[in-house]
Amino acid sequence: MYVKQPKLLEVKGLKKHFNVSEGFFKREKKYLYAVDGIDFFVKEGETLGIVGESGSGKSTTGNLIVQLIDPTEGQIIFDGVDLTTLSKKELRRKRADLQLIFQDPYSSLNPRMKVFDLIAEPLRTHQKLSSEQLHNQIVELMELVGLNPIYMNRYPHQFSGGQRQRIGIARAIALHPKLIVCDEPVSALDVSIQSQILNLLVKLQKELNLTYIFIAHGLPVVKHISDRIAVMYLGKIVELATKEQLFKNPKHPYTEGLMAAIPIPDPMLRDSKNEQLIEGDIPNPVNPPRGCPFHTRCKYAVDICKDELPVFQEKEKEHFVACHLVNKQ
Ligand code: SF4
Repeated sequence: MYVKQPKLLEVKGLKKHFNVSEGFFKREKKYLYAVDGIDFFVKEGETLGIVGESGSGKSTTGNLIVQLIDPTEGQIIFDGVDLTTLSKKELRRKRADLQLIFQDPYSSLNPRMKVFDLIAEPLRTHQKLSSEQLHNQIVELMELVGLNPIYMNRYPHQFSGGQRQRIGIARAIALHPKLIVCDEPVSALDVSIQSQILNLLVKLQKELNLTYIFIAHGLPVVKHISDRIAVMYLGKIVELATKEQLFKNPKHPYTEGLMAAIPIPDPMLRDSKNEQLIEGDIPNPVNPPRGCPFHTRCKYAVDICKDELPVFQEKEKEHFVACHLVNKQ
């Protein structure tokens, strides 16, 4: 359903090309085209899912938005301000509104810090609180994410993977951010725990009026949580639509392939679907193919696909696609 809400984030022409030059004097210039000219926006209060294989550029996109790395080119307009134009000091202040939940709850928490200090860290950096106020905030945050505050003096290794991710979530929401980038937050967890964490994120979104960018490897996870979904391939967004549009009417051949990769419980239907699976590996982003980035694996590819990059076009209201065949229709 099309809902008119103000845009909280707008990304325009965003690129990140990593210099991976080789040779003693780095004379042989080489770049890894991790993110290669993407445009999208995120509305206040919604969840935008970003899906793609390893090497698609989805995590680099998340890192660019939270300013962990600088873009090569493009604009990141957050809350009306282009983050790429801010000084370090101005950025530090804005960062409180922009948080990241990491993929790996095992390595993202300092093992030598107690839970109290882990959750208190962003509060100590950005707010001046008395000891009592800080203590009360930690208790409130632990309760919000479903952790018992009596464990605030324990270390991360004394918790399960799911509980550690809850600690990571408490850190991310501590400053009441406007936008949280969730970078594959459940992929390192047991399947039985994944839905608990997803349900917690949905609950917090409602209670705290949060906006999410939710990055994942496959469609089943983002389907659960997203309002709209962007599909990335080799540094580019190839399709972007509302969840309903994407699942009902996927237009890009790569999205079609991702849909086919979703396991189907019915064995009678499973065989016919599997025929559509995408073959081969994603090309090396240091040496991306000319034309449509997907043409080396696309079963519909025609001559033009090898030479010309398809335009990312709005084919229906809020349904954008980059494919020569779809653009002709
Ligand atoms: Fe396939 Fe051509 Fe469309 Fe690319 S532009 S997805 S190669 S049909």
